[in-house]
Amino acid sequence: MRKEFLPFTKPAINEDDIQAVTDVLRSGWITNGPQNAALEQGICDYTGNQYGVALSSATAAMHILLKAMNIGPGDEVVTPSMTWVSIVNMIVLAGATPVFAEIDQDTMLVTPETLKAAITPRTKLIVPVHFAGAALDLDGLRAVAGDIPLVEDAAHALGTYYKGRHIGSTGSAIYSFHAIKNITTGEGGMFVTDDKALADQIRLWKFHGIGMDAFDRQNRGRSPQAEVLQPGFKYNLTDICAAIGVSQLKRLNQINAKRRELAMLYREKLAEIPEIRPLADPSGYDFTHAWHLFVVRVDTPKIDRNAFMAKLKEQNIGTGLHFRCAHLQKYYRETMGFRAGMLPATEYNSDRICSLPLFPAMTAGDVGDVAEAIKTVLAHA
Ligand SMILES: *Cc1c(COP(=O)(O)O)cnc(C)c1O
Repeated sequence: MRKEFLPFTKPAINEDDIQAVTDVLRSGWITNGPQNAALEQGICDYTGNQYGVALSSATAAMHILLKAMNIGPGDEVVTPSMTWVSIVNMIVLAGATPVFAEIDQDTMLVTPETLKAAITPRTKLIVPVHFAGAALDLDGLRAVAGDIPLVEDAAHALGTYYKGRHIGSTGSAIYSFHAIKNITTGEGGMFVTDDKALADQIRLWKFHGIGMDAFDRQNRGRSPQAEVLQPGFKYNLTDICAAIGVSQLKRLNQINAKRRELAMLYREKLAEIPEIRPLADPSGYDFTHAWHLFVVRVDTPKIDRNAFMAKLKEQNIGTGLHFRCAHLQKYYRETMGFRAGMLPATEYNSDRICSLPLFPAMTAGDVGDVAEAIKTVLAHA
């Protein structure tokens, strides 16, 4: 058995990241300023989109997106139930109704067919997820969406390409820099869009509804005369955080290459273990996976997923659960009447998935240890 615990993830922090933070701390300007501007420009350059607004989280981006789009009671927002609950929470807190699109059972992605089934005359926004870092069929989804705005939840998808272009290169997308994402700022997020009016709205909502945020290159600070145009939130990112992102972005391709290498090794090793089924790649279009997560389904009568995770932990292997479906969580069941059986492919996965360790500092030996531990757990189940 493995001697040292292998966590499910670990942020890829290096000395350059640490230096970038200390530089900000010594600079005399620690909240949003030049590092925010650099991160916004960096993400625009990387994704190919035009306007970037750095935020304190992807959840904050979703919150103010709903505000900026004036979505509220009577409106429906389509998203998968297999997503991080914060997106669903924001929809409900806006007073709108979440409508859950089913996913494909083997890729865990929303498809044009499942999206179509979720759209009604009340649908005001569609937020599909590039789950685990695989690309959604954007052309197919956009064709079904028609005039209804579609904003990509790209929290897993920095480094994901669809038909040769980075996802979020046109339209609007939300990225997350939470501690476990492919690059991190500790906590943080980014809204990117090619719609200048929407970008301006998001920027307004993120900082008190004041015409500009707290840093102006010319003034080193905003004009004290700037006034509230509408009440807004306080969702800006500090430069202490942004600096980590700027530094990490330089290594994103390297980080993702390592993730890919480890994922391919997992696929090879798990091919010998039929009880543990990795996700399938979507077919019918060309894409590049960002390998945010390596998700497997525990699909055997020998042991259920929860016991599997507990037994792996005893073998010193950490795992994650991304995600328990939203519609069957207590609040949503009890207040919105969602029931088991409504979304069979989502529920199949919600009951069986777990995320195996995947982070750039892992070695091929670590992947081998995970495979060996899985075999041991199954042999004793
Ligand atoms: C992480 C995540 C989010 C939220 O990101 P935060 O920056 O933590 O708010 C949203 N959607 C998905 C699919 C995520 O994995």
